[in-house]
Amino acid sequence: MTGRAQKMSQPNGGIKCVVNTCHYYGQGDHCYADKIEVQSPNAKTSDMTDCTTFTPE
Ligand code: SF4
Repeated sequence: MTGRAQKMSQPNGGIKCVVNTCHYYGQGDHCYADKIEVQSPNAKTSDMTDCTTFTPE
């Protein structure tokens, strides 16, 4: 992915996220990033995937 995600004024409606320590997180388990990236290739379970757009607050 090119470029850092922008924090929007409205939540990204298709995403539920509970990572409340993320810069992009908003109350109600919303993500305010305009885009996210999820890794990694060849994951076999959901535990093997992560949002790499995560940024500490
Ligand atoms: S950027 Fe990723 S970790 Fe952060 S709130 Fe959005 S989906 Fe969650």
